Amino acid sequence: MCIFCKIVNAEIPNKTILEDENFLAFYDINPARKIHALIIPKEHYDSFDVIPPKIMAGMTEFIQKVASKLEVKKSGYRLITNIGDDGGQEVRHLHFHLMGGEPVGKLVR
Ligand code: 5GP
Ligand code: ZN
Repeated sequence: MCIFCKIVNAEIPNKTILEDENFLAFYDINPARKIHALIIPKEHYDSFDVIPPKIMAGMTEFIQKVASKLEVKKSGYRLITNIGDDGGQEVRHLHFHLMGGEPVGKLVR
């Protein structure tokens, strides 16, 4: 079972931000910004690349609720998901990173 499935099953503890029947938002264990949340579907999908669009619609609504709860809607935030090897995805259970609480900078190399 993958590490995020273990979090969903409460085999690994997490700092929950918001939860409903299908989705879970919790704080990243190694935050890259002042606010760094991870948002996952409770059902396992390897990445964004394979999530059914209908489930993604529900996830979009859930992510918007997480942004409200974290009070970043006005100040703004970055939402990213890494996909596969070139995307730098380490945990192969779909997750969105929501980062904010400060200016997060440009996406440049
Ligand atoms: P990826 O590189 O796959 O997009 O991001 C994986 C993220 O999961 C990383 O930011 C990492 O800090 C976070 N992470 C890995 N293991 C755990 C864990 O057990 N608990 C929490 N809260 N975050 C984790
Ligand atoms: Zn999983």
